[in-house]
Amino acid sequence: MSKVLIIGAGGVGNVVTRKCAAIPEVFSDILLASRTVEKCEAIAHDIGGDRVKTAQVDADNVPELVELIEDFKPDLVINVALPYQDLTIMEACLQTKTHYLDTANYEPKDVAKFEYKWQWAYHERFKEAGILAVLGCGFDPGVTGVFTAYAAKHHFDEMHTLDIVDCNAGDHGKSFATNFNPEINIREITQNGRFWENGTWVETKPLEIHKPIEYPEIGPRESYLLYHEELESLVKNFPSLKRARFWMTFGEKYINFLNVLQEVGMTSIKPINFKGMDIVPLEFLKAVLPEPSSLGEGYKGQTSIGCQIKGVKDGKETTYYVWNNCSHAEAYRDVKAQAVSFTTGVPAMIGAMMMLTGKWSGAGVFNVEEFDPDPFMEKLPVYGLKWHEKINEPLPVENEQQ
Ligand code: NDP
Repeated sequence: MSKVLIIGAGGVGNVVTRKCAAIPEVFSDILLASRTVEKCEAIAHDIGGDRVKTAQVDADNVPELVELIEDFKPDLVINVALPYQDLTIMEACLQTKTHYLDTANYEPKDVAKFEYKWQWAYHERFKEAGILAVLGCGFDPGVTGVFTAYAAKHHFDEMHTLDIVDCNAGDHGKSFATNFNPEINIREITQNGRFWENGTWVETKPLEIHKPIEYPEIGPRESYLLYHEELESLVKNFPSLKRARFWMTFGEKYINFLNVLQEVGMTSIKPINFKGMDIVPLEFLKAVLPEPSSLGEGYKGQTSIGCQIKGVKDGKETTYYVWNNCSHAEAYRDVKAQAVSFTTGVPAMIGAMMMLTGKWSGAGVFNVEEFDPDPFMEKLPVYGLKWHEKINEPLPVENEQQ
């Protein structure tokens, strides 16, 4: 029996709230708070039965957050607002001695930079306060870290290469839309690529390296090497990794749209003056693109995200591929959301459940792969994310013939 405060009523917030609401034995009281309270009220109304309370909060404002937390007294805050709010929400948790969980690492608004250093800097203060922060508990980051920890625990003595492969083979029927917050998504894709090799980061131009990779039940899809935040914590927590890369699929049409938007300056985060007002082109673009939470209905196809790992077990070269496929239509039937919000919101709920039931405990700031992966892996299929594995079969990411 625990009280949970969920901050952010977007695509992911909708899924986390519905999933928590369906498990009253763990999440007895739920407060959903966001900038636009009407979005919280719409979700709460749809769930019904007065199960979810709602509130308005500006999560950039620490005193406002502290007041809300002191009033509701949650055991845990689940942050599914935007990465910009991570530090203010962590600060409020610290001041009120409340556990914290999020799905994306902090990013300063004025530089597109994904780094854990700002959040890891809270470790000692969380430890002294006796509270726990779990960082990056969506799918990627999130399940990909748990998959890697599970592989390390059960299938390897030493892991040498890790490739995270993320495919969205869905069709939402819109000319151009992003599956999660457009501002965060476009900042992630348009920055330089980066991967880990032999103890150092190798930088690439944006989307410079790409190749087709075969995905289960989907087939080959052009996949682009990106920098993704979990690489930073995974190479730190699994130092035997000689190489770690992240691949994501994009359709030709998506890339064409993105190139045009980039070339005309619409993806810039530098403010420009328009009719006497400073506006950020990317923020304006977000305002005209469809909201990720609106893409669910009629979305066809599925996502496939997994980890392909090579290493050694009992002195023998071993390969391991673990993945989940998620259907957009099934996600919509379950929680009125597309698969990208679903695959993020379900793991956030499971992570919260791990913390509130004492399966994951401690004091300080941790990434998901630092906890026992087994109870989390056990819950994934129970709440809609079945996973599959292949042991000692050729890894699709290694196939240069495709
Ligand atoms: P949305 O844009 O759909 O939702 C974000 C929500 O946060 C909106 O309701 C927004 O309010 C609210 N919000 C923004 N700023 C504030 C603020 N200052 N105070 C209070 N509320 C605020 O994004 P998503 O739901 O798609 O994404 C949510 C998070 O999940 C993001 O951090 C994203 O990076 C992360 N994510 C992680 C993934 C993973 O696998 N790890 C994958 C996908 C997403 P308003 O409605 O007023 O705009």
